[in-house]
Amino acid sequence: MRVLLLATTTGYQTRAFGEAAERLGVDIVFATDRCDMIDDPWGDHALAIRFYDEAAAVATIVAAAEQAPIDGVIAVGDRPTVIAARVMRALGLPGHPRSAAAVARNKQATREHFKAAGLPTPAFIEGTLADNPGHFVPIGFPMVVKPLALSGSRGVMRVDDERGLAAALSRIRELLAGADIRAERHEAHKLLLAEQFIEGREFAVEGLMTRGTLDVLAIFDKPDPLDGPFFEETLYITPSLASSDTQASIVETVRDAVNALGLYHGPVHAECRVNERGVFVLEVAARPIGGLCARALRFVRREPVDRTTMPAARGGAADPAEAEISFEELLLRHALGEESTQWRREAIASGVMMIPIPKRGIYRGASGIDEARTVPGIVDVRLTAKLDQVLVPLPEGASYLGFIFARADRPADVDWALRTAHGLLTFTIDPELRVLQSSHG
Ligand code: ADP
Repeated sequence: MRVLLLATTTGYQTRAFGEAAERLGVDIVFATDRCDMIDDPWGDHALAIRFYDEAAAVATIVAAAEQAPIDGVIAVGDRPTVIAARVMRALGLPGHPRSAAAVARNKQATREHFKAAGLPTPAFIEGTLADNPGHFVPIGFPMVVKPLALSGSRGVMRVDDERGLAAALSRIRELLAGADIRAERHEAHKLLLAEQFIEGREFAVEGLMTRGTLDVLAIFDKPDPLDGPFFEETLYITPSLASSDTQASIVETVRDAVNALGLYHGPVHAECRVNERGVFVLEVAARPIGGLCARALRFVRREPVDRTTMPAARGGAADPAEAEISFEELLLRHALGEESTQWRREAIASGVMMIPIPKRGIYRGASGIDEARTVPGIVDVRLTAKLDQVLVPLPEGASYLGFIFARADRPADVDWALRTAHGLLTFTIDPELRVLQSSHG
């Protein structure tokens, strides 16, 4: 069996897929966004496609599938989801429809579909980069402004008055004029959205759809308040501590939301806010949770385990009778036709901290990593920032310094472990100016 993985770059997550594929005895073929003039620069034999040229990308992949059949397709990251949908259709594999994947990538289209389906939705006004602040004022304050087609909270800002709105709009204009975004050649990068700020607690939902039916794999609490002005995600902890009623409403509303978008088969990742007015689904992406965060999820077979014969398993760490698989392995199995409902998330609580970038500057290194790793419950501390890299925090920036993973019996212990480990880390970040000066002698 062969699974095609569409990914922006080959990085940690593609390696995790590689390991899972090896366990399963499955082959993986990668398709990544790169120039086909470069002859296999990463030595991964990936198919070279350009994400901005959907038709050519699909043709390249379909031609490759004629040489060596492809039995399943997985998109990693937001950008290849539409190509993945088209490839699945061309190959006769079940997937999300192209139109649903495209709507999920577009914040305005998403809002329109939710509204039409009668889902709780903030009032919104779309506009172009040329619109002046007055165009968006009817939304009222506080409002959130955001580019239409970026992800990872890039360019998403809360504004509380007209002055703040004008400043936020010029920041978005500047951000979208940047070389990395122009290189995506995406029409929607000329557009933005203003919408009512929705108060409330935020949750992330990870799910797998099988021919129209959503199986919720995990609800993550985001225990840190996300009130703006920027929306940097830090903690994801599962299982959720929300009441069972709230969790049931979240599942029900996310189910309505995926149906409203027309998503059908494959991974979905949703973000929602819950307040006394209900569950507001902010977005649903037609892909799994991003990058390293997937490591917070492990799965075991949904077989009844006779715990009475295993007293030691009660207070201990992982249940020895449970053979765990990674999320990547579950995704591969599902892409090859296995029912996800045979699997459930492990019983233990798990969480990840996306280590925020404390300030803009040149990353020179971190200390305290070994101490952080010894905090009870900590599974790993992994810094992904590269030495001497320019760190750019939100709203312009795109990534985190790294990740901390923890597992414990209770979500509160996971929360404690992640915060304690983070508190032991110290980062050295030099101002950019100094480098500029020294490079000029
Ligand atoms: P992205 O796809 O870039 O992550 P989102 O639209 O999901 O963009 O917004 C990112 C984050 O910004 C959300 O997870 C949420 O915390 C916050 N946010 C976005 N829109 C709203 C809103 N209307 N009200 C309150 N918070 C919002």
